[in-house]
Amino acid sequence: MHSALHFRNGTSALAQRFFTAHNGSHFKGSVSTLITTRGPGQSSFISMSSDSTATGTWCRFPVSSGRRFEAMASDVVAEVENAGDEGVELGVCESSPFLLAPEERPVCKKIEPGNGYGQTKLGRPTTGALDVDGFSIEGVSVGGQETCVMLPAMKIAFDIGRCPKRAIDQDFLFITHAHMDHIGGLTMYVACRAILKRKVPTVIVPACVKATVEKLFAVQRELDNSPLPVNLIGMDVGDEFDLGRGFIVKAFKTYHVVPSQGYVIYSVKQKLKQEYVGLPGTEIKTLRASGVQITESVRTPEAAFTGDTTSDFFLDEANMDILNAKLLIMESTFLDSNVSPANANEYGHMHLSEIVAHAEKFKNKSIVLIHFSARYTHENIFDAMKKLPPPLQGRVFPLTEGF
Ligand SMILES: [Zn+2]
Ligand SMILES: [Zn+2]
Repeated sequence: MHSALHFRNGTSALAQRFFTAHNGSHFKGSVSTLITTRGPGQSSFISMSSDSTATGTWCRFPVSSGRRFEAMASDVVAEVENAGDEGVELGVCESSPFLLAPEERPVCKKIEPGNGYGQTKLGRPTTGALDVDGFSIEGVSVGGQETCVMLPAMKIAFDIGRCPKRAIDQDFLFITHAHMDHIGGLTMYVACRAILKRKVPTVIVPACVKATVEKLFAVQRELDNSPLPVNLIGMDVGDEFDLGRGFIVKAFKTYHVVPSQGYVIYSVKQKLKQEYVGLPGTEIKTLRASGVQITESVRTPEAAFTGDTTSDFFLDEANMDILNAKLLIMESTFLDSNVSPANANEYGHMHLSEIVAHAEKFKNKSIVLIHFSARYTHENIFDAMKKLPPPLQGRVFPLTEGF
């Protein structure tokens, strides 16, 4: 049987964008027909066709309630909310909040050695850019020199060793710890925001260093008589910060040689409760109308940023959500046998071999490695990436800006 495909809150144009993106290279024309089919006792399928006679079906997606369709490197997400007898209801089709619109994206570097980027020097006004599985990431990170990693679509920066020009556009700054290569650009960031008349930035720091960071601002204000307007907030491990638009950030425990914490971003959504999944749409409507609470709030870890830490952070049972986040941005300061994992831990850092040894723990769709030691070259980093074993190969990307 054929039944209609409903986009609860979307438009057919958005639907077409989604399916075109989802099907990637297989798809050659525009989508003109979207239908769902469901035989007796069978799963539902969404089929799409390039012509209205439905003879040229390109793709079939098996569907069940709760299944999420995420278009790789596209900006649209759809979700099956209810696969009942009346057809398939797709939930809100939305733009991925983490990905910049194509016209806004900086030119992404090809992730391969020998593309000439190894020649770039620190201090240039640009930052590196990666598009990874629905996330636009920009930044620079060199161990001991500077780390600033941004999700520009969310207006978020993590750490600010110096102040890259691009960081000034970010409204929220989350600091993991007070080492100079992670906090050195803080007053400059606040000053640049003020000069450019941007709104007062929100800066989150570990609660235990907040008073000292206030002193840092006081000293700078005394030195140059600038107001340095900033909304400074202290967060402890476990504390949450509401970003608005259905996202919250939570601080998690990391293990470094000074007080430190990482940050994980959760999306918070209302979803149909399990007991109502599969009910026909009319019954759901009746329940909703009679005042029954048919949805519940569901949190999904979207992206996590570790800052500096030893491997103890991923052995910590309390940090399971970090290993399940779709995107994990994680330090990997040391890469080769010149520094042992034991030495790395002594300095409060991680060795790539520890990540490899525990590869099965990482359920993340994508992992971006940062904070490589300045001793390495661009080539050293890619040599190490090439040797990654299958569970990691293909979903681990190095941020090589500055090498
Ligand atoms: Zn560092
Ligand atoms: Zn550090």
